[in-house]
This record gives sequence, structure tokens and C-alpha cells, in this order.
Amino acid sequence: MPKRKLALHWRILIGLALGVVVGVAINMLWTDAVWAKLGVVDSGAFLATGPHTDAQLNPDANLIADTARFLRRANAFVGDLFLRGLKFIAVPIVLFSLMTGVASLNDTAKLGRIGGKTIAIYLVTTALAITIGLTIANLVGPGRGFPEELREQLASAEAASAEAKIGAAKTQQGRSTWDIVLDIMPTNPFGAMAAGNTLQVVVAALLAGVALTLIPKKKAEPVIAVCDGMTDVVIKIVEMILIIAPYAVFALIAGVIADLGVAVLLQLVKYSLTVVAGLAIVVFGVYPLILRVSTPVRYKRFFAAISPAQLLAFSSSSSGATLPVTMDCCEKRLGVKEDVASFVLPIGATINMDGTALYQGVAAVFIAQLYGLDLSIGQQLTIVLTATLASIGTAAVPGVGIVMLVIVLEAANIPLEGIAVILGVDRILDMCRTTCNVTGDCMVVSIVAHTEGELETEDQVRARLALDDEVGFDEHPRNE
Ligand code: ASP
Repeated sequence: MPKRKLALHWRILIGLALGVVVGVAINMLWTDAVWAKLGVVDSGAFLATGPHTDAQLNPDANLIADTARFLRRANAFVGDLFLRGLKFIAVPIVLFSLMTGVASLNDTAKLGRIGGKTIAIYLVTTALAITIGLTIANLVGPGRGFPEELREQLASAEAASAEAKIGAAKTQQGRSTWDIVLDIMPTNPFGAMAAGNTLQVVVAALLAGVALTLIPKKKAEPVIAVCDGMTDVVIKIVEMILIIAPYAVFALIAGVIADLGVAVLLQLVKYSLTVVAGLAIVVFGVYPLILRVSTPVRYKRFFAAISPAQLLAFSSSSSGATLPVTMDCCEKRLGVKEDVASFVLPIGATINMDGTALYQGVAAVFIAQLYGLDLSIGQQLTIVLTATLASIGTAAVPGVGIVMLVIVLEAANIPLEGIAVILGVDRILDMCRTTCNVTGDCMVVSIVAHTEGELETEDQVRARLALDDEVGFDEHPRNE
């Protein structure tokens, strides 16, 4: 009997745990004083510059310093290679799976019903998430009594990058709501794909999918077969990329933790914990509760099925890059039928960001408290509304939530300078909120599938998985 390989999520979890341990060790032991001892004066420049200028930059840099830099770059290389691979398939998977999903529903009434349900649940859960964020932030008051000196010190340390984020948001802001909505409609579908504008790709795929159901069957069938085949091709590529997932997760986490400003984290610990507590309540309390009330999916089944997607979301900070794995988990392990999963999940990855919205709620209250402002009910409602809308426009890639926060702060008249204060801990909170975003997508797809009678029972899933047992979730099925 062939030896069974450890399941993918365990391997990812081991990568994650080792990454944390190694990251913490480097963070604690490899300080600027160590660089200085090795003859490296400016470690940032030393790490960033090519070898050709090293001689001028660090005449004394010795073998240990060079080796450390090599390892760091090799580590970043593995993480980036993996993320590039996942980004590479993000647009094709949305396009092909959505086209196949819509075309195979083959019923515009059903499509409208599922679409309506999906969007309604996405919006309601997002608004609920921000409300939870606002409530916790008001109760805990992470910014109350925050020393003004520390606020200014943190703000000046990150002033330049905060300006860049605010600048990025402003380019969005000069536009009227008409233009923003209009922009969802691509003028060139290929341009949208090339630019990686997922919202536009969703629209293009929806239009093409609906059109496929309206043209004669004889003509539609070969196109659907191509899209279906391409979806399988993309999923197979995902499985190939996932082979390096445990190593890449190690590399990504070790890098983030090694670079983490522990001092900044400690200064912002109350704020960070408020965000994490809010996200934990949503992920481990609200979602399972909603599932319990509206579907037969129970706690253990849900989390066991989606854990690879959650781990990947945490490691990559990108729900877009995680999408192919989210689809794989929901279809194969949770038992959502392909036509529903391939319709609901790409839309969810693009527009449903409960974690991001919750984070924006907490951040807005925190910043207001930093500046001694008391938010009125009207301002808080503005936050709920703008954060719900902003989360739709948030691209599913790392670090966009904080850019969209600018829009939320402006709408509620909260000082934008506060962005600089929270920037230092954004990456780690991005990892947490992305996990919540992906979990939310999985929750919604379960509800939609159940109400449509397209969710397998736990026994059906188990029986199917037992059949596939020879072939791991992440491996190639042999010729069928
Ligand atoms: N990184 C998040 C995501 O991809 C978006 C954000 O909040 O920055 O889901």
C-alpha cells in the first residue's frame, strides 16, 4: 500500500508554525547591532542594493552578512514565486469558472435568483461585520488616552508611506459616484483582463455567460466545453503551484515576522487586539451561527473543509490569490456543487470583504479617539455605509484595505493623518482580515448552495472523498 502523504493543510500549518518560530528568532536576534558588527552600516540599503555596488556601500561586509542577505533574498524569492503563480491564475479562474458557472445554470431566472441572494447576503454580512467592529471599538476604546507624543512619533515615522496611500485613494476620489459605477463596465474586456481589474472581468464573464445561454445550443456547447476545460486546466495549475505552498507559507511568514516592528506592535497592541478580537468573533462566532441556523453545515465540518483556504489567505494576504483554493475547498471538501461555487465565489472574492470592512470600522474609531473626537451616531452610520461600499471596490490583494480607509475617514470627517499611526501594523492585520474575507465567502456559498439544493450532505462528501482517497486533495488524479 502506498504511504499516505500528510494532508496539505497540515503541511501548510507546519510551514506556518516554523515560519513564525524562525521569524521571531530572526527578529529578536538579528538586530541592527548585529549588522553593525558585521560591518554593514545601513542594513536596508545593503539588502536592497545589487552586489555590484556592495564594495562602495559596505567595504567591510563579510561572508556572514552576504550569506544572510542571500538567504533573505532566497526566502523572499520562494514566497514571491508562489504569490506570482497564484496571481497568474486569478484572472483566468474568474473568467472561465464564472462563464461556465453562469452558462451551466442555463436558466436566467435561476441566475437572477442566485445572484440576488448572493449579493444581498454579501452586503448584509458586511454591514453586520462593520457594526460589530464599531461596537467593539466603542466599548474597548483602543485610542482613548493614547499618549499624544507617541501618536506624533508613530505618525512621523510612517508619514511618507501614509502620503502615498492617501495619494492612491485620492485618485479614486476625484471621481463622481456615476463614474465609479460606470467604471465597472469594461470598454475592452481584454484590457480589463490584462490590467487585472477583477470587477470588470466579473462583468465581462457574466455578460458572456448569460449570452451563452441565449444563443443556439449547438453554438454554445463548444464554447462552454472550452471554458469548462480551461477551468479544469487552471485548477490543475493551482494544484501544481500548491506543491510549494508549505515552503512558500514558511517563507512569507518568516519574512513578515522577521521584519515586524515589535516595538510598534506593542505600542499599538490594544488597537491590534481589538481588530483581531472583532475578526475572531465574526469568523468563529457569527459565521458558524449563521450556518447553524440556515444550513446543515456544522462547525467542525465547515472549518475542516476550508482550512487550506484560510491558511493560504492568512499567509498571502490576498483573497484573489486564494480564490482557486477557496473554490477547490468548497467544491471538493464542503460539497458545494460546481455551478454554484463557480458563480458565487469569484464574485465573493471580488466584492465581499467583511474582514476589511470590520477593520475599517475599528480603525476609524481608533483614529477618531486618537484625536480626541467623539463620533456621533450619524458619523458611525456614515462609516457603515462607506465601508460597505468601499469594501466592494477594494481589490483582493494585499494592503488595499488601508487605502480604501482614506475614503471612509474622509466621509466621516476623521483626520487622515491617523493612517500613518496604524500603518506599522497593517501587514499583520491584513493577514487576519483576509482570512475573515475568505471565510465569509465560504459561508455565503454554503447558504446559497443549500437553499438551491446544491449542497452535498456530509455523508455524500465523505463517500466521494473516500473514493478519491488514493489521490490527495492537492495531487493529480491519475488518468480517469
Ligand atoms: N488583503 C485583503 C484581501 O485580499 C484586502 C485588504 O483588506 O487589504 O482580501
